[in-house]
Amino acid sequence: MIQILGPNDLQEQVLNKDLCVRCGACVGLCPYFNTYKGDVVMTFSCDHTQGRCFTHCPRTDVDYDLLSKQMFGKLYDKNPLGVHRKIFASKAGDKMGDHHYQNGGTITALMVYAMEQGLIDAAVLTDSQNLIPVPKLVTETDGIKNCSSTKYMAAPTISKLNEGMKKGYEKIGVVGTPCQMTAIAKMKSNPLNFKNFKNPTRLLIGLFCTWAVDTKDFINLVSRETDISKIEGMDILPPPAQLFILKTKDQNIEIPLDAIRNIVPKGCSMCPDMTSEWADISVGAFEGESTWNTLIIRTPKGENLVNDAVNDGYLVTKNLSEKNLAHLIKGAENKKKRGFENQKKDQPIRD
Ligand SMILES: Cc1cc2nc3c(=O)[nH]c(=O)nc-3n(C[C@H](O)[C@H](O)[C@H](O)COP(=O)(O)OP(=O)(O)OC[C@H]3O[C@@H](n4cnc5c(N)ncnc54)[C@H](O)[C@@H]3O)c2cc1C
Repeated sequence: MIQILGPNDLQEQVLNKDLCVRCGACVGLCPYFNTYKGDVVMTFSCDHTQGRCFTHCPRTDVDYDLLSKQMFGKLYDKNPLGVHRKIFASKAGDKMGDHHYQNGGTITALMVYAMEQGLIDAAVLTDSQNLIPVPKLVTETDGIKNCSSTKYMAAPTISKLNEGMKKGYEKIGVVGTPCQMTAIAKMKSNPLNFKNFKNPTRLLIGLFCTWAVDTKDFINLVSRETDISKIEGMDILPPPAQLFILKTKDQNIEIPLDAIRNIVPKGCSMCPDMTSEWADISVGAFEGESTWNTLIIRTPKGENLVNDAVNDGYLVTKNLSEKNLAHLIKGAENKKKRGFENQKKDQPIRD
């Protein structure tokens, strides 16, 4: 049986143990949990013995079988890539016009298309200001385009899903990392058995993620290299470079990946999911071609959306080579093994 506890237990089991991954799932449900410069903090004590803050957190108990049955109708089988129907390489199609994306722009194209088609009426995304990730709830396609590009900082994005729910949106699309998708999957299982519970999400696009960095530590690190207001983007060079790149107007600043790995929140080490398994569609970089993405389709809804977006010129797909697929599986397998091993050592997550 998984534990169903409350805010003080969340503080004790997750925040005090430095296991918080700053996903924002506990923020915006009540006045007590907030974010400050990328951190999640409990600002007042609360004596509820059970709460959504605890039950939605991706670092408290996760019932993987329950989540898998709920989403895919079968038990969790630890497949490295999760349940999937198809895997492609993809990028934004001509209908999206000219725009700057992190890679192929698959995510932005699919969210724009979903909104134009009326599948979603709001989107939960992540922008940034002075290197602080800024979660956004947007209702226009321009707002979706403005949030394109990767911010490698752990972001409290799910706080905006909580806000969207309060505002009464019922067809929300969310783009998020594996921990954020896990929080949503837990929310969808309605762990506190609320009678009036309605799942407010209609489309979940998950990002591949090996780790994210702590915002405060990242700002400290980067401030030693450059004026942070000049940073226009960031990227990780493909192996074997082992370099993180900060892009300014005039230059690319290289930071050794080891320095970056030092500022990854401890809670990330317990994550067994590299490809956002609890999403309709998952998207990551494409090995060897930086203007393309890897695209994993998991649900019939995701498959229909991709097919329609291709037919209407919003997306282009091509096949993935056996070599690319093998590397993807290897990376995901390694993270799964590491994550489950670290969960056993550190608790509180139990599988
Ligand atoms: C923390 C992190 C780690 C990643 N690690 C890997 C990896 O190990 N391997 C891999 O292949 N790919 C990884 N990715 C994904 C990859 O870097 C790109 O995000 C993806 O390929 C971009 O696709 P695109 O061109 O379609 O995105 P775009 O169309 O440019 O859109 C990017 C989308 O990402 C969202 N976003 C940006 N930053 C965040 C954030 N911090 N949290 C939540 N959502 C965010 C934005 O809302 C936007 O919708 C990672 C992404 C993140 C955020």
